[in-house]
Amino acid sequence: MLDLNSHPAGRHFLQIPGPTNVPDDVLRAIDHPTIDHRGPEFQKLGLKILADIRPVFQTTRPVIIYPASGTGAWEAALVNTLSPGDAVLMAETGHFAALWKRLAERLGLAPEFIPGDWRSGVDAARIHERLAADPQHQIKAVCVVHNETSTGVTSDIAAVRRAIDAAKHPALLMVDTISSMGSVDFRHDEWGVDVTVAGSQKGMMLPPGLSFNAVSAKAMAASRHARLPRAYWDWEEIVVANEKGFWPTTPSTNLLYGLAVALDRLHAEGLPNVFARHERHAEATRRAVRGWGLEILCRNPAEYSPALTAVLMPVDASGASHDADAFRRIVLERFNMSLGTGLSKLAGRVFRIGHLGDFNDLTLLGTLGGVEMGLQAAGVPHRKGGVQAAIDYLAEAGTARAALKAA
Ligand SMILES: *Cc1c(COP(=O)(O)O)cnc(C)c1O
Repeated sequence: MLDLNSHPAGRHFLQIPGPTNVPDDVLRAIDHPTIDHRGPEFQKLGLKILADIRPVFQTTRPVIIYPASGTGAWEAALVNTLSPGDAVLMAETGHFAALWKRLAERLGLAPEFIPGDWRSGVDAARIHERLAADPQHQIKAVCVVHNETSTGVTSDIAAVRRAIDAAKHPALLMVDTISSMGSVDFRHDEWGVDVTVAGSQKGMMLPPGLSFNAVSAKAMAASRHARLPRAYWDWEEIVVANEKGFWPTTPSTNLLYGLAVALDRLHAEGLPNVFARHERHAEATRRAVRGWGLEILCRNPAEYSPALTAVLMPVDASGASHDADAFRRIVLERFNMSLGTGLSKLAGRVFRIGHLGDFNDLTLLGTLGGVEMGLQAAGVPHRKGGVQAAIDYLAEAGTARAALKAA
């Protein structure tokens, strides 16, 4: 049982790919008195957040904020834009794509999956092929996951946009960025995304509890005719109240205090630097994994996730996989670090290293050190030198950066 009064020395390493470690200044901001959400002080906060969040989504249009987990924003994207029985094209990239599809089914939509191997991103050519075979335009939306958190694989969203355009198809493009927003380059406007779905607890460095919809003009227009029942999730009322810095229902005031600081942090570091930092930590992690002689789940290097790395456990002589969860348990008990579990089909066969959010070179080395010690403690066959490979890369990448700055 969780004992909130026990304090093991040092910090817990929360290296699952979300929720992620929340920075101290964000936690301190949340720990302020709750205020009147219809008052002038709140209004200032609301207006600031609603302005500051747009550049993080790389949009100039409204971003709607819900007091909900990411799943709420998934549902909001669909119920605001679609009607009962609408066909929706989705791509089976992994566990989260499968969950979004199930949610669409429960809402009375007719989702269709392009099958996948859970080791690859969206194949834009298949999207093009399927849309080209839909001259009646029965498919109303294409829904894809940008960063599939169950596999550590990203998808090329610009390529999906090009595929839709090449087929001259009017379907809306909806993208789940729940584990990429704030850590992986994502361009809502430039890539012509109609609805971007995001959440607070991964790259955004906040606790769970907020989620987001960025909405194109085309999606907003579609919402005027969409007939799926909706009430709480309705965009229109929220957008109207947001114009003055308010919400129609009670917002998560304290999480919004945290969001204001998290946005300040992202803008102070600069988004290109944030993305480069995640790329560097992901590369260092992959060098460590290869150094241990283990296999990365993601097949295609162009699709490696900057936010997390899923690692396959080695297989023994009889063909059985070493137990990823037994290994994770030892890491938690011995080193007070949580690693991500294998989800559904991947259960027991992979573990996931989250390297996103509030994260630097030394937190990464602590994380990788915990993995290497855990492999040894759990008797998982591996080579030495993974952490050393990461150190060599980070030290050099750091030197190159310092030289660049000095020049
Ligand atoms: C975490 C996650 C979700 C689910 O979000 P919740 O906040 O758990 O509802 C959906 N999609 C992706 C890609 C995720 O990483």
